[in-house]
Amino acid sequence: MDVNFPHIPLSLTENVLENVMQKTPFGFSLVNEHYVFEFANNVWLDIVQKTREEVLGKCMFDIFPETEDQLLSIFEDVKKNKQPFYAPEHCVKLHRDGVLQDVFFNFVYQPIYSENGDLQYFATVVIEVTDLVGIRSKIREEEERLRLATESSHTATWDLNLKNSEIIHSTYLSKIFGYKEDDAISHQQLRNHLVEYDRVNIVEKAYERALKTGKYKYEARIIDKQGNLKWIFTNGKIFRDEENQPNRMLGVMQDITERKTNEILLQESHHQLNTALDATKLGRFDMDYETQHKYNFSPRFLSILGYDSDTEKLDCKVFENHIHPKYVKVRNDALKQAKDTGDLYYQTKIILRDGNVKWVEIYGRLLESFEGSKPYISGTMRDITDLKEFERKIRESEQKYRFLADAIPQIVWIGESDGRLTYFNQATMDYSGKDYNTFLEGNGWIDIVHPDERIENTRLWMKSVKNKTPFSFEHRFRNKNEEYRWFLSRAAPQLDEFGNVTKWVGTSTDIDDMKKQDEHKNNFIKIANHELKTPVTTIKGYVQLLKKMRGGSDDKFLVNSLNTIENQINKLNHLMGELLDISRIESGKLPLHKGDFSLLKLVTETIEDIKAADQSHHINFELSDAKDIEVFADKDRITQVLNNLLTNAIKYSPNAKEVNVKLYVDGNCAVVSVEDFGIGMDELELTKIFDRFYRVSGEDEVTFPGFGIGLFIVKDIVDRHEGKIWVESEKQKGSKFYFALPLLEN
Ligand code: ADP
Repeated sequence: MDVNFPHIPLSLTENVLENVMQKTPFGFSLVNEHYVFEFANNVWLDIVQKTREEVLGKCMFDIFPETEDQLLSIFEDVKKNKQPFYAPEHCVKLHRDGVLQDVFFNFVYQPIYSENGDLQYFATVVIEVTDLVGIRSKIREEEERLRLATESSHTATWDLNLKNSEIIHSTYLSKIFGYKEDDAISHQQLRNHLVEYDRVNIVEKAYERALKTGKYKYEARIIDKQGNLKWIFTNGKIFRDEENQPNRMLGVMQDITERKTNEILLQESHHQLNTALDATKLGRFDMDYETQHKYNFSPRFLSILGYDSDTEKLDCKVFENHIHPKYVKVRNDALKQAKDTGDLYYQTKIILRDGNVKWVEIYGRLLESFEGSKPYISGTMRDITDLKEFERKIRESEQKYRFLADAIPQIVWIGESDGRLTYFNQATMDYSGKDYNTFLEGNGWIDIVHPDERIENTRLWMKSVKNKTPFSFEHRFRNKNEEYRWFLSRAAPQLDEFGNVTKWVGTSTDIDDMKKQDEHKNNFIKIANHELKTPVTTIKGYVQLLKKMRGGSDDKFLVNSLNTIENQINKLNHLMGELLDISRIESGKLPLHKGDFSLLKLVTETIEDIKAADQSHHINFELSDAKDIEVFADKDRITQVLNNLLTNAIKYSPNAKEVNVKLYVDGNCAVVSVEDFGIGMDELELTKIFDRFYRVSGEDEVTFPGFGIGLFIVKDIVDRHEGKIWVESEKQKGSKFYFALPLLEN
């Protein structure tokens, strides 16, 4: 308030003063140099709530003693400086309505001098602004409330002076930028936090726009003081001065990192979804749930139907026009069901414009209405022509193989990777007299296996399934006349490229007649053996007797003849033993008599026995492990194994002098190796030598007599001890046979 009083001439009469001063809207009073009131207008009296009588002629500080402290010094200053004193919004404590109150005044104390320059009066012009101050503090409260509101809604406020770039901002803005709440950040500092790309491409462009439109709005990225990437949203307004120059910008700012991150995630997942959809080669469409009209076809949808989405405009019935007449009902039924269940699914043939026929699969789901839209089905279409064709081919080939499998008299079956049998051919049903389902349910097939072989059958089958190794087993199956016949079942695993079993394909061949013949043969061998034993033992006894009697004779011919007879009788004995063994193996009656014994002792004794009968080779024995090795096995049979390997080593290395034997422990096995430097074998031969009656070369029969059953028996013995036998050999260099037996577990 600019109040300037003219110099008041002393000649002014009290009346004039009274009239003028009474009319002013200000409070007005005059005190003389002794602070005694000489004049007070009504407004003034109202402000101080006194009557004229109470004040006139009284000293100011008697009436308002509470003001003395504040005013006395002010008046003294005014006197001294001869300058008026302005006190805007000056708080004076006054008793009002019986209460001491803060009353706010705008004061002007104007000294009035007499013509000779002496101070005559203090004029006090006063206007009460208590209400104004109240409003001001209310505004401040409002501002505070606004500040709180903006901060609690995570909105920062800022006020930028465009002339000098000074910025005033709320504390929350400091927080957004990673500063402490009471840090004041300059405009330049704030700009430095913007991601450079966004500053150039977003913020500066937004400012240019704001200069034109007055509105300043953007979303951009900042790196806050801690180095975190954040998204901010700013909304502001430009204000202009009288010359229409932009001078101020006001606005709010929000941290929208979370929303933006979600938005980006959503965008990414949309993108991924689209890519995935594209990869699935699915066509997309939407369908009005009520009218069942389709719309929003994706380009792929149209290309499946043979249309070009860029050039051809299509109506909502485009798909329906192509449905093969035979499938119209299928489609109508599916639509009816979709109305009930919300799920749409059907496969149909479609005829294209060029007459070609395709198979498609339609799949859709009802989406609830939202925001006033109608419920609709969002669906996909897949071209399944190739699939159908493939299915048809598979069906055909399956039918063909089923027919073939059913046509052959042999039993054919298929097992899953876990060993469950899931297919049996017609011959199975014909043989057993059972129906197909009886075979598939539970362990239906084991029911026709003879009870004596069931446990072993299951054990071997599970072993093959577990180890993915071929299965082979002889067992009896019961036929529809309740008779059992012998079958040889074999199965091989079908492996995929990762070595996993996809299927087992098995056959069971009726070997009953063969088996019976074998039985006859085995019986014959047993009887022959038995019958031969007596004459052979008798001959052997006589030869030994003769040797005792004539062994020291000078008749060389006689001695040699006796030795030859004894040797041949021993060989004959050995062969008879082997023949008997093989017949026992075949009828599954080769018994094992297991016990604990020292393998070291067995090896040394066997070597000694061989040495006694044959001095053609030197047998070296090496024990790698100083300890004795104990095994639990059939001692006689293991002796037979080693004997056989040693005899072979000597027999098949006629030009060599050495045979090496080793005994050692490998893991939890005891291993014996027999090495010779003889004729050796090639790879093909190696694969067959453990087969029954196999002999490497027929031509050498004379050179190397034998039946070809020794190794077959050896392998059977080792196998039945849960052991292993193998061989390394090179033609003309020699062979090295190994057998391993499990060690006694401590
Ligand atoms: P055989 O009575 O013929 O010796 P085996 O079953 O003991 O019968 O051996 C089968 C075949 O394996 C033999 O005919 C022979 O060709 C070959 N064979 C066995 N041991 C050796 C070896 N140490 N060196 C070379 N060939 C061998």
